[in-house]
Amino acid sequence: MSSPVHYTDMTTRAERSLLDKTLKLAARAEITDLIKAGDLVAIKLHFGEVGNLAFIPPPLVRVVVEMVKEQGGKPFLTDANTLYVGKRRNAVDHIETALKNGFGYEATGAPVIIADGLKGADYVNVPINGKHFDTVKISSAVHNADAVIAVSHVKGHDLFGFGGVLKNLGMGCGSPAGKQTMHSDLKPEVDPEKCTACGICIDKCPEGAIERVEKNKAYIQANLCIGCGECVAFCPVGAIPINWETDQATIQEKTAEYAWGVIKPKQRKCGFLNYIMNVTPDCDCAPWNDVPIVPDLGILGATDPVAIDQASLDIVNRAPVMANSVLGGKEKTEDKFMAVSGRDTSYIINHGQYLGMGRKQYKLKSFWLKQSKKES
Ligand code: SF4
Ligand code: SF4
Repeated sequence: MSSPVHYTDMTTRAERSLLDKTLKLAARAEITDLIKAGDLVAIKLHFGEVGNLAFIPPPLVRVVVEMVKEQGGKPFLTDANTLYVGKRRNAVDHIETALKNGFGYEATGAPVIIADGLKGADYVNVPINGKHFDTVKISSAVHNADAVIAVSHVKGHDLFGFGGVLKNLGMGCGSPAGKQTMHSDLKPEVDPEKCTACGICIDKCPEGAIERVEKNKAYIQANLCIGCGECVAFCPVGAIPINWETDQATIQEKTAEYAWGVIKPKQRKCGFLNYIMNVTPDCDCAPWNDVPIVPDLGILGATDPVAIDQASLDIVNRAPVMANSVLGGKEKTEDKFMAVSGRDTSYIINHGQYLGMGRKQYKLKSFWLKQSKKES
């Protein structure tokens, strides 16, 4: 058994612009048909950090928005707040970043709604019975949407090797506390030098594991702590440092389980578009974008997130390297993302298949390629 993955390359001409191709792809992959009148449709994006220009351009998002509206749906653009302190750590900063990068209503035709609310506290515990998690903390606006269309930029990532739809949905839809649990099993500790004794973490801790000690500063009792990450996410001064420590297999598998937490409750209401363009060595979270490692290669559409990520990886690995990129001089590299980051990209895909999200085996159904003589 294999899953269909629809594909078109980056060649364009009259009536075959990338906008036309996106719409055709959505129709062929039956993403258009997922949307019913009245559906609230979460279009899951990464708005990019300020300084990064490799994210998916707003006009490509606009055609997806228009498609949803034509079906009678009510689209909104969404992403969850970050764990790290940056320009997307709360909803105000996050929306400002989205606006600076061109995702205003006038450009896309849809409002930006930050999926986990003002400070990342709005999430739903979704049962998944995974290998690592019984439940995952999925941002409310994504969980409560009737349908999800993930519009994912395929690029490198220093922890995952590569980012496709599984990474976009998994890490991207987890609340900040959920992100902490994906990143580490280690129990957090308070830095007394930074702690201002505000007490927020004490209120947020679901286990009553935090007590006040000398000068009212917070102290985490390791024997009571369940490692949920809430205190890390809510400390306003970063006095409970983020633990980034994890092995690559574990973080990828945990992230696949979060992606499953998005998809599982709304099966047959999720569609995926992967853009293999501006394939930068780093994630869109970086406030810069280095030279892409391969040329722009095309767009894929599917309703199987495992298959579309596997196909995206295969297409990148078959492509020539860009001479002026970090892979310049390594033309024979077979696994390009491994060569960039030293990370094995297979864990997230294998675990996605293990969880039942989809299949690694796919059948590529191409259309409107450079050499196409007639329309199909
Ligand atoms: S939230 Fe941070 S600053 Fe406030 S008491 Fe807890 S550790 Fe200290
Ligand atoms: S990780 Fe969770 S359980 Fe542990 S101290 Fe922080 S809030 Fe409490």
